Amino acid sequence: MIIRVSEIPEDGLAIEGVDGFPHPFHDPTWVLEALSLFVSKDKDDVLVRGHLRARVPQTCGRCLEPFPFDLVAQVDTRFSPSPRIGEDEVELGPDDLEVDFYIEDLLDLNRLIQTETELGLPMKPLCRADCHGLCSVCGGNRNVNPCSCAVRLPDPRLAALKDLAERLSTRASLRGGPASPQGRTPSARPSAR
Ligand SMILES: [Zn+2]
Ligand SMILES: [Zn+2]
Repeated sequence: MIIRVSEIPEDGLAIEGVDGFPHPFHDPTWVLEALSLFVSKDKDDVLVRGHLRARVPQTCGRCLEPFPFDLVAQVDTRFSPSPRIGEDEVELGPDDLEVDFYIEDLLDLNRLIQTETELGLPMKPLCRADCHGLCSVCGGNRNVNPCSCAVRLPDPRLAALKDLAERLSTRASLRGGPASPQGRTPSARPSAR
């Protein structure tokens, strides 16, 4: 939905429901489920406030299964007229992070919906909070098939051996000269010597 800024009434414009948004997202598998926005003018700026609800297919970061993610995004964005080419660039201060632009007389609400939905997506999607993930031994999905593979935690003794092996190989490469402190890796722990 594209709004003509010059046609926004003085007392604002309420947009309820998703009927005016047949294709709000780039990805047709994303679904806009509910929307309530209030559009109002503040001199040349346009304020858009409200919320939306969307369902977006995600892939679980632990078990790699697809699942639908439902999100509610609060919208509170100020649109300013786009600076014309040739005019000085508008400087964005730290308070202006929720500022966007409209171009000419047109404000694209689909772009706002796309952006706000993307911002509401999880950094690390999980199909459920207690997802057991994939077994690191057999690769099975432990939510579906709780296998009995022994869980191997990283062994601190192995880490110490690896550290020692690295030091020995450093010394070996310096063979012929005295073992120098420069040969130690930066991660080497202070020794008790
Ligand atoms: Zn999962
Ligand atoms: Zn397993």
